[in-house]
Formats: sequence, structure tokens, C-alpha cells
Amino acid sequence: MCDHLRRVGDNYGVSCLDCGAVLAGYGYWGQQETCKHVWEKYDSGYECMYCQAWLDEETWQMRFGDSIGV
Ligand SMILES: [Zn+2]
Ligand SMILES: [Zn+2]
Repeated sequence: MCDHLRRVGDNYGVSCLDCGAVLAGYGYWGQQETCKHVWEKYDSGYECMYCQAWLDEETWQMRFGDSIGV
């Protein structure tokens, strides 16, 4: 069981150095095609810091509510 304690990251995302799991974005060095979004809050909505996907406040709330705690 890996706790993903040793992490590596770059502009593409973050991966676990030990087991290779993608923890955020596309993973270190863009390992994955799909983005594990990491939402940053802005005045009018949320943007993923890796793929620049955009959600307005209302859509974000509908999808994620308080579950992430950004
Ligand atoms: Zn791991
Ligand atoms: Zn994303």
C-alpha cells in the first residue's frame, strides 16, 4: 500500500515517485491523457491549474459542492 509520500511534479502534473500513480493533472511529464483537475478558485469561477479547463461557480458547486474543500 502506497501513501504517495514521495511526489514529483512539473507543469503537467504530479505523480508518485514510488508507485507511479498520477496524483494531479496529467501526471509528471504528462503520463496520462486525461487530466486529474486541480481547481483554483477565481472571482467568477474555477480553473484547472493544469489543463485550464474552466467551470463557473454554479457548475462547480453542482459537481463538487464542498467535497474538495478548495
Ligand atoms: Zn504511490
Ligand atoms: Zn485539468
